[in-house]
Amino acid sequence: MKKEQYLYIEQYMLSCMQDSAHDREHVYRVLYLALELAEQEQEVDREILITACLLHDIGRTEQFENPALCHAEVGGKKAYAFLRKHGWDESRAHWVENCILSHRYRSGYVPDSLEAKLLFDADKLDVTGAIGIARTLLYQGKVGDPLYSLNDTGEISEGTLDRVPSFCKEYCWKLEKIYDEFYTEAARRMARQRQQTAREFYEGVIREAKEDYRGKKLLQKSVK
Ligand code: FE
Repeated sequence: MKKEQYLYIEQYMLSCMQDSAHDREHVYRVLYLALELAEQEQEVDREILITACLLHDIGRTEQFENPALCHAEVGGKKAYAFLRKHGWDESRAHWVENCILSHRYRSGYVPDSLEAKLLFDADKLDVTGAIGIARTLLYQGKVGDPLYSLNDTGEISEGTLDRVPSFCKEYCWKLEKIYDEFYTEAARRMARQRQQTAREFYEGVIREAKEDYRGKKLLQKSVK
């Protein structure tokens, strides 16, 4: 891939990024992780991979402003139009579009090329471990979700059966489940090494919040 080509694609990515949980540093981590994972594979088209990684989240702003939109679909279309405008042929622009379309965990599209699988795995690795927790909290802070919810009896809910959004629900419903979702062995191995850190953080939140709540009985004694 030519440097000038990399630079205009990077420039376009930077002009699209606003959301801190999916900011430019996320994009660079995904790009570097994907290149690292690609070292274990044969015949990776690195021009496709680098372009798809750089542009994979360019539809985030649209989704944030209108949650009915899927950032993978919007981003795929934007990337296709951008690349066509810069002289890419139809099939390679579509290849990038398909990688972006299938990178979303909840999109329902399945990665159908090695480059799409590498992008998917690299993007999911950035939801594992300490970084995954930190990004989740940054995002939830922005949309105003709480750390945990209370159950019907007013106690701290651990998140497994929750319906309303919270950090603990997101951990149980998404973060904890991600570890079985990888396509490449190298990504799976890396994710496993990070899993314990995430679990300890979640368990710590629950444990400490429950400790804090013990004082609730004292309030009932003090306020009559
Ligand atoms: Fe992403």
